[in-house]
Amino acid sequence: MTESNNMLEIKGLTIHYVTDDGVVRAVNDLNIAIGRGESIGLVGETGAGKTTTALGILKLVPNPPGKIIDGEIFLDGEDIIKKSEPEMRKIRGNKVSMIFQDPMTSLNPVMTVRDQIAEVILLHEKMPAAKALEKAEEMLMKVGIMPDRAKDYPHQFSGGMRQRVVIAIALACSPELLIADEPTTALDVTIQAQVLELMKNLKEEFNTSMIMITHDLGIVAEICDKVAVMYAGSVVEYADKLELFKNPKHPYTIGLFNSIPDIGNDVESLKPIKGLMPDPMNLPTGCPFHPRCDKAKPECSEKIPAGYDIGNNHIVKCILFNQ
Ligand code: SF4
Repeated sequence: MTESNNMLEIKGLTIHYVTDDGVVRAVNDLNIAIGRGESIGLVGETGAGKTTTALGILKLVPNPPGKIIDGEIFLDGEDIIKKSEPEMRKIRGNKVSMIFQDPMTSLNPVMTVRDQIAEVILLHEKMPAAKALEKAEEMLMKVGIMPDRAKDYPHQFSGGMRQRVVIAIALACSPELLIADEPTTALDVTIQAQVLELMKNLKEEFNTSMIMITHDLGIVAEICDKVAVMYAGSVVEYADKLELFKNPKHPYTIGLFNSIPDIGNDVESLKPIKGLMPDPMNLPTGCPFHPRCDKAKPECSEKIPAGYDIGNNHIVKCILFNQ
């Protein structure tokens, strides 16, 4: 147990995949903390290590080849790395739930949506089956699906409605932490807005802490309290949402903002970040962003920068802020 009042605290998390071709360094010395009822956006390009971090929190990193090499993950004060698999089964879906990108991969095609929600409820709570079915229908109502659709199968729903069912399953046991991995990427923009609004309302109703994994800063602006920008398996900048949006400091974060079209600003062309995310099997020495960084100095390739607190609980992992 820790004294901290945080819902989740990750310290020095390092996850590698050991393959025949080499070691994939997916998550490297990652540190984040989430308060109760707080939501944090985990932002970064594909390959930044966002999903592996989420799988680490659930102890679902496929082993082999994946392995948590180092670090601590305190969920509600308890170090879950030390938990056994039967203990983790009680935690998943109950204390912490996850919503995946593609609802079809999380739903059972041969069970009605109501039965799938009731199954999760019965797994974690002792109650008669009829009561669980009743509660499943209530959860469907909460996500805007009427009882006359409760006995339908996933294929009878549209993509947006299926994602609503997945959200109902994830929230059925009132988890204290919800991890949403790009939950709206597969949906069109209007449905995306509806699902985000729904998640925001449910999060407030259940006072759930949330990790929103996304590459879309617009989604972070919509739904998160804090932002952690990830690069090459590590958080390179961390701050409250307003602070980070007003005052981005890390050259990578600034590059992300410069890559977004701004309707109020008449620019000839966007400024994408040059180059690509490094191969996690072959990370550059020192600051992993140095081959792409316009501000890089010779020492950037020598030492991994520490995270510097620049005030306002704003952390930047870049030597330019070593005062
Ligand atoms: Fe750029 Fe150096 Fe800062 Fe890395 S440490 S972001 S290379 S200036």
